[in-house]
Amino acid sequence: MHDTGYGEREVYNPRRREFLFRILFALSFLAVVQLHHFNIDLGGEIDFTSLYILIGAYFIYALVLLLFHATFSLNGPLGWAVACVDVFSLCAAIFFCGGVESYLFLSFGILPLIGGIFGDYKGALYTGLLCLIGFTGIVIFDAQQSATYNYAQGIALRYAFIIGATVLGVFIIDLVLKDRNRLKIFYEISQSSSKSPALYNVLKEITQRMAEILKAEVALVFLHNEEAETLEAQQPSLGLDFISTSRLRLDAAAPGVLSNCFRNVKPVLVSRRLSREVEVLPFAPDYNVFDLIACPLVARGKSIGLIVLANKLNRWGFNRRDLTLTELLAPHISVFLDNALLYRGSEEKVAQLTSLIRVVDAINTVSNLNQLYNLALDVIRGLFAVEKALINIIDSKTGLMETVRSFGYSEEYTDRHLTQPFESVNECFVLSHDRTFLSMDVTKDARCPNMLVDPETTSVLCVPIRSGKKIYGIMHMASRYQNAFDEEDATLANAICEQIGMAVESAQLFEEVSRLAITDELTGLYNIRHLKRVLGEEVKRSVRYNRPLSFFMLDIDWFKIYNDQHGHPRGDEILRILSGLLQQNTRDVDTVFRYGGEEFSVIIPEVSKDEAYAMAERIRRVIQEYVFPYEEDQPGGNLTVSIGVANLPDDADEGDELVENADRALYRAKHSGRNRACMFNPSEDGRGAQPRRPTSN
Ligand code: GH3
Ligand code: MG
Ligand code: MG
Repeated sequence: MHDTGYGEREVYNPRRREFLFRILFALSFLAVVQLHHFNIDLGGEIDFTSLYILIGAYFIYALVLLLFHATFSLNGPLGWAVACVDVFSLCAAIFFCGGVESYLFLSFGILPLIGGIFGDYKGALYTGLLCLIGFTGIVIFDAQQSATYNYAQGIALRYAFIIGATVLGVFIIDLVLKDRNRLKIFYEISQSSSKSPALYNVLKEITQRMAEILKAEVALVFLHNEEAETLEAQQPSLGLDFISTSRLRLDAAAPGVLSNCFRNVKPVLVSRRLSREVEVLPFAPDYNVFDLIACPLVARGKSIGLIVLANKLNRWGFNRRDLTLTELLAPHISVFLDNALLYRGSEEKVAQLTSLIRVVDAINTVSNLNQLYNLALDVIRGLFAVEKALINIIDSKTGLMETVRSFGYSEEYTDRHLTQPFESVNECFVLSHDRTFLSMDVTKDARCPNMLVDPETTSVLCVPIRSGKKIYGIMHMASRYQNAFDEEDATLANAICEQIGMAVESAQLFEEVSRLAITDELTGLYNIRHLKRVLGEEVKRSVRYNRPLSFFMLDIDWFKIYNDQHGHPRGDEILRILSGLLQQNTRDVDTVFRYGGEEFSVIIPEVSKDEAYAMAERIRRVIQEYVFPYEEDQPGGNLTVSIGVANLPDDADEGDELVENADRALYRAKHSGRNRACMFNPSEDGRGAQPRRPTSN
């Protein structure tokens, strides 16, 4: 049994059930006829008990017949009509005492008549002839029987005739049904494809119906891929599992039953009954040898593919009639498929346009690079047969490429291969050639030494992410299947990635502008605007978790003098050096700001007032000991700083108060001689009034 791609497992095998039923049908028929004869053989007098038994048995027989017709194919109005005629003919046979002959004549005579009315004249003719032979045989036998009467022999012969006629009748019904189903299949496929014209749905309907009508175990459609010159088995197929179907790709130019059939546009019947040649066909591993029908599909004057029906060797094969039937159906199947393909084409175009519009929209809405990368991968995932994708962006500072976002790659794999920025940017095919990289099977493709090949990767499509001439990175897409991407995908991916490139450009610009808005140009430190935001957040956290938060306010001593003596540019140099010293001498979690002019502040989370003071003292000493250019001309021969320290919750309840009190402490540090750190002390510094700081002028 195979997963047929329909979700549940189903392999169509109608014969066993149907034949079981037909045997029952024949046995019940025999039983009834035997009872009937038993009644007649008793001398022709009406025995009411036997008659009731007989009528009861006929009734059961009629029910069985009705069930038969309702269960197998002859359903709908025609089935019921045939069943009624059968019952009517039985009743007629009883009441006019016609015996077996009448029944045979009426029942098997009327069935082909109906078959004829509904389209199969040949079937009707053959059945009529067979009935006539059976009828004549019984008449001749009855004539002989009266001369040399042998009861046992008579019964045996009658049985033989009846079994023969029943089996023949069953075969003829079978033929009639097949042709009648031909009408049904058109109706059903066209109904279903008008309800949902999606290719998947149409293929499902076609394979299911064709398997049903030809009693095939395997039914599948190959479509011609013009670019690759291959015949590709389509999902869903019937009787083959998903993987086997997706691997079925035949070289349209190579020799072989199926590709020959496609090239010559000629239907093929491979049957062990008709030929001794045994073909090994490239289906699933356990389906090596087949009875097979292949029929080319032609739409709008062009071969679009093949329909293939197959059975295992140990199953029922196909005959010429099946081939003719397939040939008759093929043009209609082609039309259905062609429509579905056109529909798919238009759907794809709409999807492509929609995703392009989405990406273009994103340029106006997404200003955050992270959001943009997520959106880009969403678009890619929705649009291509892609299982894995990466966005690699070149870091403008280091010039290395970094994977900024991915999906489908295992965490372990990305950790191993992707967390380190690529050293070999120049080896990337896309970047070095400034071209799309499209590989049907990357395991056999040495063009890109940078390629990350894992066992699950076969097809790869990489396109540049660029805006104008500037390349920002690459979009890498991968699938475990061969030929997952084609030139059309590459064109579309390029168009999308160009839009993504523009979005990356504007998002990078936006991020740069945002960064500039909060940084101080001279020192590269955060500015006072950012101080307000960070301090607000830190104060909130400190209050919520009841954790200490310290704050420094730092001012250079006698800086006006330095400026006056050495000029502003040298003063600026001091500010830069000092910024570096502050950053080196604080922790990663501390944030240094240029408060303004030659004043700096530091936010120090999770540090108590005493610890903060120790830290301030250490920083002060470091600065005092540092040899600044021309510092010997400063008062005391050293360039020094004064620092005010305040703490939350000791000295303040909120941010503004914390800054203000640190400023007051700084004021005191200046007042009491400079080059020192002072902790805020309410008794000395007061609270509430504006800070008063001495100035050098
Ligand atoms: P003290 O703080 O010790 O009381 O004396 P001071 O001379 O440092 O006084 P104040 O803090 O008031 O000095 C401010 C001086 O800092 C004025 C200005 O010359 C200098 N200054 C402010 N901003 C800049 C700047 O961006 N670059 C340079 N070179 N100097 C600046
Ligand atoms: Mg100052
Ligand atoms: Mg100063």
